[in-house]
Amino acid sequence: MMQGTMKAIVKPERAPGAKLDEVPIPQISDQEVLIQVKATSICGTDVHIYAWDEWSQSRVNPPYVFGHEFAGVVVEKGKNVTNVDIGDHVSAETHIVCGECKQCLTGQAHICANTQIIGVDRDGCFAEYVALPAVNLWKNDPELPFDVASVQEPFGNGVHTVLAGDVAGKTVAVIGCGPIGIMAVGVAKACGASQVIAFDLNDYRLDLATKMGATTVVNSINEDPLEVVRALTNGEGVDVVCEMSGHPIAMNQGFKMVTNGGRVSILSLPVRPVEIDVTNDIVFKGITVQGITGRKMYETWQQVSGLLSSGQVDVKPMITHHFPLEDFEKGFNLMLEGKCGKVVLHP
Ligand SMILES: [Zn+2]
Ligand SMILES: [Zn+2]
Repeated sequence: MMQGTMKAIVKPERAPGAKLDEVPIPQISDQEVLIQVKATSICGTDVHIYAWDEWSQSRVNPPYVFGHEFAGVVVEKGKNVTNVDIGDHVSAETHIVCGECKQCLTGQAHICANTQIIGVDRDGCFAEYVALPAVNLWKNDPELPFDVASVQEPFGNGVHTVLAGDVAGKTVAVIGCGPIGIMAVGVAKACGASQVIAFDLNDYRLDLATKMGATTVVNSINEDPLEVVRALTNGEGVDVVCEMSGHPIAMNQGFKMVTNGGRVSILSLPVRPVEIDVTNDIVFKGITVQGITGRKMYETWQQVSGLLSSGQVDVKPMITHHFPLEDFEKGFNLMLEGKCGKVVLHP
């Protein structure tokens, strides 16, 4: 067993902020693996925890190491582990599921009733090492650069949302161009959408959406999203809306811009209940509304690997910043300002 201490970004107390600390290297059980973290990306969830918003106050228990998106190399494995070897390049499904509930037993482990999330409910990967159950590991092609491999988890959110129904030959709107929205644009384009229309209020991120293949980008402050969609779709509306903004106004625009019989797939997490015109925007339009959480285990991961290794989606344009772990505050500040795509930390 590896002994000693390591550098880690710790959420030290129930207050805003985080600090770099020396903590013990985690010890593994017989079912677990120790991974040396080579790249770890900052997620919106981590920014919530850093800023100490209402959600994180109700969910996380400091002190602990946070972070959940990473790529690394297996350096130690428990005696019952058979699916990976020392030296393997890995990332991980961040939802640790029970394997016993109704959902787990019916092929829907991504909505396990007893889900624990790495870096939220237990120690995470903003550290030199992370210990994880071997069943959660996803083996990476050693050729895949660590920074690209580290964003597979949020990329999987985008893949799960876009591919929760047909997109080939269809018009797709992506509302909200945070990193997952920007990656969803790339997925929709790669999977044959006839148009990919991206909406946000932030021009920096709309530029990234263009780089990832958006056919039209709309700054919803300067242009009326519904008018733009009408003009681009012969007045019919879009076939698919991927809702990534969580904003009540933007969300309502999504329900108004979808065509009769279309689909609205919601990945965003609005902080308060949102008022929707169910009668006119859902029932009479005969649309399908889907909640999307996590990634399907492990169908989504296979799609992720396929899209990245084939080069059909190149996520490099949206990985905009790299910092050593020590400079994590620079990364969090960029995320808070929205002046970045994906920020990757290197322990
Ligand atoms: Zn994430
Ligand atoms: Zn379960």
